[in-house]
Amino acid sequence: MGLVDDSNARSAHVQCGGQALQLRCVCSLRTPRTAARETNQPLPQDFHTVPQPGLGHRAIHEPRGKVLGGSSSINAMVYIRGHALDFERWAHDEGARGWDYASVLPYFKRAQNHSLGADAYRGAKGPLQVKQVDPVTNPLFDVFEQAGVQAGYRRTTDVNGYSQEGFGKFDMTIGPDGTRWSAAKAYLRTAPRDRLTVVTKRTVKRVALDGKRAIGVVLDDDSVLRADREVVLCAGAFGSPQLLMLSGIGPGGHLKEAGVGDAVVDNAGVGANLQDHLEVYLQYKCTQPVTLYPVGNWTLRYLHRRVAVGLEWFARGTGLGASNQFETGGFVRSRAGVRHPDVQYHFIPGAVLGQLEFLPLHAFQVHVGTLRPTSRGSVRLASLDPKASLRIDPNFLGTEEDVRDMRAAARLADEVVQQAAFAPFRGERIRPSAAEVGSIQSDDVALDAWLKASSHSAYHVRCAPALCACSS
Ligand SMILES: Cc1cc2nc3c(=O)[nH]c(=O)nc-3n(C[C@H](O)[C@H](O)[C@H](O)COP(=O)(O)OP(=O)(O)OC[C@H]3O[C@@H](n4cnc5c(N)ncnc54)[C@H](O)[C@@H]3O)c2cc1C
Repeated sequence: MGLVDDSNARSAHVQCGGQALQLRCVCSLRTPRTAARETNQPLPQDFHTVPQPGLGHRAIHEPRGKVLGGSSSINAMVYIRGHALDFERWAHDEGARGWDYASVLPYFKRAQNHSLGADAYRGAKGPLQVKQVDPVTNPLFDVFEQAGVQAGYRRTTDVNGYSQEGFGKFDMTIGPDGTRWSAAKAYLRTAPRDRLTVVTKRTVKRVALDGKRAIGVVLDDDSVLRADREVVLCAGAFGSPQLLMLSGIGPGGHLKEAGVGDAVVDNAGVGANLQDHLEVYLQYKCTQPVTLYPVGNWTLRYLHRRVAVGLEWFARGTGLGASNQFETGGFVRSRAGVRHPDVQYHFIPGAVLGQLEFLPLHAFQVHVGTLRPTSRGSVRLASLDPKASLRIDPNFLGTEEDVRDMRAAARLADEVVQQAAFAPFRGERIRPSAAEVGSIQSDDVALDAWLKASSHSAYHVRCAPALCACSS
């Protein structure tokens, strides 16, 4: 929306999905299904990868938000900027000029309206509402932070500020009224109506080209939306390469084979370098009745508590319903010699079955994931229909290094849960069960097998066209 803010330019925003209903429910985990209930659209776009050899040949679910705001309208609302050294690497080693940390920080600040006010890293006047829940809504959030410190890590007060590394509170994109703050809410709703046209439920078929110059987009009824100045393609890590390839911009051989024909621009980088990182849940029974289980399930016994959460949230926009339930977490380094955190933990004072339903017992879970996998994959066309799925291959656990790092991440998480702070709460380990993995700390073979069978996407997929200066 920078275009509309900063100049007199008029802009059109085309979206294949619809508009999210402004329901206030944010008490969702990272699940797209819960979020789907908040919208009036067939959500999400249910992509699946091709079978992944590194994950026991499972096809992994890769949902994307087909709605205004895209995946920010269905995501888990955890606000993480990324480590400064990642921006430095992109800028200095990987050719993304202008993406060094000092250059991007002012934009992060300008975008943000943080509940704790402005400082050297936070902004307080931007359109994107970001908050920390204080005090936390469950004692186990503090226990997790304390256990991290007992395990030898530092405490950090702002994982998006001076020190990402350590254990502390996480930020979330939730407004003061307790509602989800998607990109659509932050930018589309506030944009001047006379200069922004929002077109919903229209699929872009391809970029309209005049020679090699983009002059607009072709919509699904074959009409052309012409641009006087520029076309900004932001259809996501799957949608952007898909549209480029359907427009004849991509790897020549693949475009021919897929039926697009001769490439207008033969560029091997389009759809290449696909990256995603994995996540797995370590779950433990909780010996005290303090978890989310009573409000996470529709059981008659606890119905009154669930209703009370809903009423507080509808009436005041506060309480459990105004939190994404990822209130604390941690960033650590998996081993000596790693310069900055390569492992991330989220903590939930509840344990889920699959992605949505809570286990019918008091339990908690640590989400464990690595941040910089070395495996690379690709996105390729499976059809000439822009509404069809794609051949998505992140090549999960395609390298020995990635297998080793997931193993280390799981071990370090279990080590945190074994600290004294958890002693009054820690019960038997549920996942992996003792039968699946006897000792997380010493049984490499069983742990690897469980990780292979249980890990899933963390939904943070990215691919070449996003930043790469070399794929012009
Ligand atoms: C379930 C889930 C949980 C997540 N949790 C978090 C989290 O807690 N924190 C976090 O930082 N990140 C999270 N993410 C990731 C984050 O939401 C995404 O990285 C981010 O939204 C990507 O933004 P984008 O603009 O690149 O793409 P998208 O958000 O995917 O937007 C692409 C848009 O383009 C539209 N589009 C695509 N093709 C076409 C077409 N042909 N014609 C018209 N429109 C089209 C889509 O409908 C969509 O609106 C999560 C993602 C998911 C799916």
